[in-house]
Amino acid sequence: MKLKTKLKIAFFIMAALPVILGTLAVFFITRRELSQVRNVYGADFRLSDMYSSGALLGKITDTTFAEVQKQAVENADVFFDRDYLAGLNSEVEGKLSQLVVRRGDEIYYNSSSYTEAELEEILPGAVTARGLGGSAVYEGGRFQTIVKCVTFRASDGEGSVFLITPLRQTLPQFKNLVIQVVLIVIEVIAFTSFILYLWLNRSIIKPIDRLRLGTQNIRDGNLDFEIRTRKKDELGDLCRDFEEMRNRLNKSENDKKKSDVEEKELIRNISHDLKTPLTAIKGYVEGLRDGIAATPEKQKKYILTIANKVEDMDRLIDELTLFSRLDTNRIPYDFIKINAKDYFDDCVDEIKLDLESMDIILKYNFHGGDDMYTMADPNQLKRVINNIVSNSVKYRRAGVKCTIGIEVFDEGDYIHLVMSDNGKGINMKDLPRIFDRFYRTDESRTSPQTGSGIGLAIVKKIIDDHKGRIWVDSTEGEGTTFHINLLRYKEGMQLTLPDNQMKSKSRKKK
Ligand code: ADP
Repeated sequence: MKLKTKLKIAFFIMAALPVILGTLAVFFITRRELSQVRNVYGADFRLSDMYSSGALLGKITDTTFAEVQKQAVENADVFFDRDYLAGLNSEVEGKLSQLVVRRGDEIYYNSSSYTEAELEEILPGAVTARGLGGSAVYEGGRFQTIVKCVTFRASDGEGSVFLITPLRQTLPQFKNLVIQVVLIVIEVIAFTSFILYLWLNRSIIKPIDRLRLGTQNIRDGNLDFEIRTRKKDELGDLCRDFEEMRNRLNKSENDKKKSDVEEKELIRNISHDLKTPLTAIKGYVEGLRDGIAATPEKQKKYILTIANKVEDMDRLIDELTLFSRLDTNRIPYDFIKINAKDYFDDCVDEIKLDLESMDIILKYNFHGGDDMYTMADPNQLKRVINNIVSNSVKYRRAGVKCTIGIEVFDEGDYIHLVMSDNGKGINMKDLPRIFDRFYRTDESRTSPQTGSGIGLAIVKKIIDDHKGRIWVDSTEGEGTTFHINLLRYKEGMQLTLPDNQMKSKSRKKK
């Protein structure tokens, strides 16, 4: 779920949940309190009465009032009996009210907190206003009370009974209800906030903490601190981007370390490879200077050897320069559409004579039609073939007639070039590294064959830039086979490389 949606939901829950739960709580608590109020006061309260103290207090004395009315008719004498009045008063007090009895115009019994003067104001005036047994509800002006009145005629006089319920008070049950509702609302808000906190903490704070930890680790140079996430929101995306950044940094750091090691190896190798011919040259020059080469034949031989060594060094430096330019993409490619048969036929014709002069057999077979095309830079592809063939020549087995095979196969989307020899072969442990720059097997390093260890690195770089693939099979003591897959030409095909590496994008050869 997106973070934006989560936040929207969180705000909605924050607003709606307390309202819904609060309303439900108020409803159920009110009902419970209502039934309690009914039990305690015995009056017929309704749910709506709970929200009006006037309605509640008005009904609270209903049953007592009915009782008094009944007595006024059946046995009014009791109202002048103080014991009866004391009993009645305690019942009335239990209902938050007060009892006053008037005999004629005199206050006969007063359990209220009002003075007689105040009662004058609160109570209705004429005793006989309603007649015998009548009842009425009066609301006092200044004192805010509900007054229920029953007039009676006893054997020794007339009078009135008043039940006075002050309005400025609240039922204890009602106070309870308010407290409970407030508590429930606070609990609901606290609960909702806690749940939201947990949820947002899990989906926002924790990933941010982890990201912060990741950043600190990277700052401190630890690039192995992984941040895994399955989240689908923006923070999940951020974590994944962060992880990709970390992987790339890690890779470039490793590449840098590797290239540092290679650089050192290169310097060691170059020093070694330059030092060997230089030592030899120095020896021959000293030989000439000191007159060791006394005869003109010997002198000529010395000079020829010096020239060969200089040529080796020159070749080595050329290869180094070429590789460095290829590696930094400073050699532009001139990709064109070439016909495979014509191209490989020409290549083989070019190298065949040289090989024959070295008594090497070259077997060439083209297993494909005349209409097989590929996109390639013919000069660079030739460099690939030459490097592989010259390795086959360089690493041939003494005492075995050297045979080199070149075969081309049609493999649908690819043109498959196979170049094999029956030379020394390559040790299993060296095979995975022979395309590495400056890698030479121990055997070739100690052999008299000169080499820089970058011939195959150049080959791989060129094939990679052609979007092709190269791999090798070899058995020590039997021979080596290089396989190259080149992309078959398709209409509209383009090999895209960094601009500085492209000479022209498509120049087709008919
Ligand atoms: P080098 O300048 O040493 O020939 P390369 O990059 O061309 O460098 O080759 C790397 C190593 O792979 C060589 O040193 C050699 O040990 C091994 N190698 C390459 N081609 C062959 C082959 N045809 N037969 C045997 N070994 C080979």
